[in-house]
Amino acid sequence: MKIKQIRVSPLFMTFKEPYHWHGRIDYGTTIILFQVETEQGKIGVGESTSSLNAAGSLGLLANIIPPLIGQPLADIDRLVSRSRYLGLINDAIRMPNLLLAGLEMAMWDALAQTAGLPLYQLWGGASREHVDYFGFVQGDEAEELVRSAKELVKSGHRVIYMKVGRGEKSDLKNVQAVRKAIGSDLKLRLDANESWDVFTAKNMIKKLAQFDIEFIEQPVECRSLSALKEVKDFSPVPIAVDQGAYSLEEVFEVCSRRLADVLVLSPHETGGATNFKKAAAIGEAAKLPVCLHGQFTTRITDFFHHHLAATLPNLTDGNQIMGHLLTEDLLKSPTLALTEGRLGLPFQPGLGVVLNEEVIKKASERYAQYLGGNVKDMDFVYTYE
Ligand SMILES: [Mg+2]
Repeated sequence: MKIKQIRVSPLFMTFKEPYHWHGRIDYGTTIILFQVETEQGKIGVGESTSSLNAAGSLGLLANIIPPLIGQPLADIDRLVSRSRYLGLINDAIRMPNLLLAGLEMAMWDALAQTAGLPLYQLWGGASREHVDYFGFVQGDEAEELVRSAKELVKSGHRVIYMKVGRGEKSDLKNVQAVRKAIGSDLKLRLDANESWDVFTAKNMIKKLAQFDIEFIEQPVECRSLSALKEVKDFSPVPIAVDQGAYSLEEVFEVCSRRLADVLVLSPHETGGATNFKKAAAIGEAAKLPVCLHGQFTTRITDFFHHHLAATLPNLTDGNQIMGHLLTEDLLKSPTLALTEGRLGLPFQPGLGVVLNEEVIKKASERYAQYLGGNVKDMDFVYTYE
């Protein structure tokens, strides 16, 4: 069972409403869609995140993908590992991880389709009957955030997540308003996205603690584990690491030095599902829970996350999916519909998704328009006969 063809398509997806996070507002996102086809005609799909202009990512892929054609699909771990060397990115972590994860995702989908098993069964089976997802509060001003939070509570979410890092006055006002809106029973999580220095983090956490915060995610810049340690040792609120734990080595350091209470991980951050499961196992050995982290991605990743999350024994409630924030669904089926913030186990073979070609065409045209290029030049198909 060899890889016959790999199609790579940059797509520009738009958000339903402006996406506010530390220091930036996003109106859309570029993803790179991978379609890996086997000699038997199975087509696996995956996606990677990208900067808005994907030229850099596509350049790297031009080195990585041609040598994969004709290789045995089932050798996923070896092929991904070899790709790091072929792409001369073996010394880099973050950007290559985000990129390779989408390619690996498509390979896993094709392999599980070939095996006739849902992905989570190929990975050893489920540890749970459903996965719980948080309600992600949208907006910028307190009134917008409150309106969004109330809708999320109404739809049944038990965990509410919101961004902070807008400055002390706004953060205190916003968090107080959202806590009041959701009541005292639900969990409230904050994500500072590295926006604080150690002094500010201590000051803010001390003041925010009164709003019964379940945990605060990545309070300080990700490259300094010593800064994380100082905040963790000080904080009366549990601390989660996110951007500070991409590599297995970083996860090990965080666990062995007790630098966080929760690991927030994603297969994009770890460079694929294999490394994600290894990272989660390091957390399991350290008796730390893992919360699934979302990138700027579509329902493809949401379903991939779901299969992966189903296998983890040390998964938290309130995990992250992002596809619902987009204007369009890249999938014709299935529709991802949560019940009380939860989703049960899928039963279709592979990732179990069918692409919506119309939406892909429009998103491809948008990407070409964004770059001022020709859509015909934007798709890259690597194949052999
Ligand atoms: Mg985060």
